[in-house]
Amino acid sequence: MQPFVVTSDLGAAAIEPDSGYADPVLTTQSLAKRARELGAPICEGMRVTALRVEAGRVRGLQTTAGDIAADRIVLAAGPWTVGLLRQAGIELNVWPVRAEIAFVRRPPNLADGHFVYLDHKSGSYFRPTREGLSLLGTGTARRPLDYSQMDSYDEGSTERIVTVIRERIRERAPALADAPLARGHAGLYDMSPDEKAILDRVPGVDGAYMAVGFSGTGFKTAPAVGACMTELIREGRARTVDITPFRWSRFEEKAPLHGSAEYVERYPMH
Ligand SMILES: Cc1cc2nc3c(=O)[nH]c(=O)nc-3n(C[C@H](O)[C@H](O)[C@H](O)COP(=O)(O)OP(=O)(O)OC[C@H]3O[C@@H](n4cnc5c(N)ncnc54)[C@H](O)[C@@H]3O)c2cc1C
Repeated sequence: MQPFVVTSDLGAAAIEPDSGYADPVLTTQSLAKRARELGAPICEGMRVTALRVEAGRVRGLQTTAGDIAADRIVLAAGPWTVGLLRQAGIELNVWPVRAEIAFVRRPPNLADGHFVYLDHKSGSYFRPTREGLSLLGTGTARRPLDYSQMDSYDEGSTERIVTVIRERIRERAPALADAPLARGHAGLYDMSPDEKAILDRVPGVDGAYMAVGFSGTGFKTAPAVGACMTELIREGRARTVDITPFRWSRFEEKAPLHGSAEYVERYPMH
């Protein structure tokens, strides 16, 4: 189906005919546009500096643009959630990890694009973009970044990672490994101990909720998470899907979340 891909070293692979990718910027902006149409104000450039909590109940937020009263809040600030909860005396077991991706110009024989690949054998993933590029990345990154660097880390991609990405992609798609680099960038994963999200109430602070710890998988699940968190807040429990497996107490209970047939990674660390 995709002759440019090397498969001779593979015993088996799975294909998902209905899967694909969504442009992250367009998706985010579309969701924001619809939220505004439905009456949700979106305040950009405003930083939450503290939660306002009285007698174990949330009263609102302190922000760089003044206080906001609220009796329900959702903490969904990625790894920055840790600092906000720490101020309220709660230590969240989530940490930042810097992850990099590179974009290369697709060679002419791949002008029409290619499938989306997630390849744990070579420790790489790649997908086409609309502008004639291919996005290349490595497997899950796990080296923690110091919390103090979350606002100052390098958002560009480094030569080291581009070399690592090229080496790994070469095993599966040599044509992409040799394609010219267009650009690259880095962002933060908010890692949890079992690499699954924490979707829950904040214990000890009535009215506060958290959706955090997505560990590099929070984009594709965002609409479902939004629906479930809304139901949890408004109706007391999520009904779109049962999110109790994502409760925070699973770590204390020594019941981390693992799928029954998870892929095995050859390169757990880089
Ligand atoms: C390189 C890379 C590739 C990825 N690829 C995929 C993928 O293929 N599929 C997938 O599903 N996921 C992927 N992810 C993960 C996905 O991007 C995240 O899981 C998702 O963006 C998490 O969304 P979020 O809204 O919880 O947090 P974030 O996107 O981190 O947003 C948190 C927001 O909170 C803001 N904030 C922080 N502190 C404050 C404060 N005090 N006051 C106000 N605002 C604050 C931040 O500025 C930020 O805008 C990838 C991530 C990276 C870095």
